[in-house]
Amino acid sequence: MPDTRGLIDRQLEADLAAVTGPAHVLVDSDLRRPYEVDWTRRFSGPSRMVVRPGTVAEVSQVIRLLAGRDVPLVLQGGNTGLVGGSVPGQPDPGRGAPVILSTSRLSGLGPVDSVSAQVTAGAGVTLARLQAAAHSAGLAFPVDLAARDSATVGGMIATNAGGLHVLRYGPMRAQVLGVEAVLADGTVISRLSGLVKDNTGYDLSQLVVGSEGTLAVVTAARLRLVGEKPQRIVVLFGLPDTTSALAVVDIFRRKIDGFQAAELFYDEGMELVIEHGSLSRPLADRHPCYLTVEIASLEDPTPSLMSALEDLDVPDTATAVAIDAIGAERLWAYRERHTETVSALGVPHKLDVTLPVSSLADFEKEVRREVASVHPGARLILWGHAGDGNLHVNVIGPAADDEGVDDAVLHLVASMHGSISAEHGIGRAKTRWLHLSRSDSEIATMRALKFALDPGDILNPGVLLTDQRLTAD
Ligand SMILES: Cc1cc2nc3c(=O)[nH]c(=O)nc-3n(C[C@H](O)[C@H](O)[C@H](O)COP(=O)(O)OP(=O)(O)OC[C@H]3O[C@@H](n4cnc5c(N)ncnc54)[C@H](O)[C@@H]3O)c2cc1C
Repeated sequence: MPDTRGLIDRQLEADLAAVTGPAHVLVDSDLRRPYEVDWTRRFSGPSRMVVRPGTVAEVSQVIRLLAGRDVPLVLQGGNTGLVGGSVPGQPDPGRGAPVILSTSRLSGLGPVDSVSAQVTAGAGVTLARLQAAAHSAGLAFPVDLAARDSATVGGMIATNAGGLHVLRYGPMRAQVLGVEAVLADGTVISRLSGLVKDNTGYDLSQLVVGSEGTLAVVTAARLRLVGEKPQRIVVLFGLPDTTSALAVVDIFRRKIDGFQAAELFYDEGMELVIEHGSLSRPLADRHPCYLTVEIASLEDPTPSLMSALEDLDVPDTATAVAIDAIGAERLWAYRERHTETVSALGVPHKLDVTLPVSSLADFEKEVRREVASVHPGARLILWGHAGDGNLHVNVIGPAADDEGVDDAVLHLVASMHGSISAEHGIGRAKTRWLHLSRSDSEIATMRALKFALDPGDILNPGVLLTDQRLTAD
């Protein structure tokens, strides 16, 4: 019996190599392996090969080649996504394993246009590189998150990433002026002119934002920058509970112009981070709850900070203030190291949810009760972006394929009128529960869009929507 699949794959490898050059088609299992496992290690699946096109024209040719043979594609940027969207799932019995398209070589970064405060960046440009380029022109890129050294522009657009500064600048969507993208039939659409006003029909760029690689491959984007705010102060508060943390956020929002981050975490996370990172204790005592806030402005924000502190009932011993870059980095570490610390403990179930801010304190109590009752003995570590009502619920203990805790937490969120995904997206992890946050008619409309743009379900099958090959109705 001839090995038909092997023959087809060898031909595919040769054809892809003719487009990108053989060095950018990875077939060897050792070379493919890092692309096949996600950051959390909870999601993985086999691929046929990895292809790394270097230009938009190459992306288009690659897609035409694969679509013509009904070979599915998984799109991958920095592979820091936390919902399994950047790696293959179980192979489709009819079509076999997908090809992974890595955007790592789409790394061109244009000059910063200081007059319009904009820049054009390739999909594979990392957030850290984008931030550095903006900084060198006296500007800043408004989105920031702890995965900055690996997360890419394309991945951040595809997931509509949030991060630390949403309460001031909004999520990735608010920074995208236009995208260049390749559709599932190889068509290139491009809106990179950076026009702030352009009411000429459907906003195709914004349609792609948050579509998790299911509608198009982003190859580049025109992005908004903001003026750099060099006067930065970071404050860490030790507090009795979530309600007190939200009261601090309320006062800062009212009194401080340059208020840009409010990050919440709890004693269990603080103790783990201190132990795992061999860090010194930032405050004299332990506290049930912590809040890291950041202010950044052109003028010295100390007077408005002092005025806000006067309104707060937090003792000096429960407050640490950093006014220089080294001190700020030190205080930020207690919050930013949560993700890596929790992953070092085991494979976490990561549930990134939002609640109406007014329900956040009740949710925090309820979710502790719920997790303890569904999986006694599980470790629960919570942290999040307090200003946005966004809590990251991390559970360690249940097996990777045991979805009991996920199911209980997401139903609790829905019962409290929250969203099952605040900023990480649906990916492969949460497709089962999409109906908890989206109505039947919304899901049907999403399916219709997917079917119109990708009728063969070539792009990221199994991500966001299941059964994508169903017809639009
Ligand atoms: C330590 C840590 C901290 C994090 N903090 C935050 C945070 O604060 N806020 C937040 O929102 N997220 C956070 N994340 C999640 C993650 O960093 C973001 O989701 C990021 O946007 C993913 O970018 P990426 O390049 O790694 O994308 P990937 O993980 O490679 O892909 C993510 C999704 O986008 C798709 N995709 C990737 N590139 C493209 C493209 N060019 N075109 C179309 N689709 C594409 C993939 O198929 C996948 O579905 C964090 C992750 C880690 C590990």
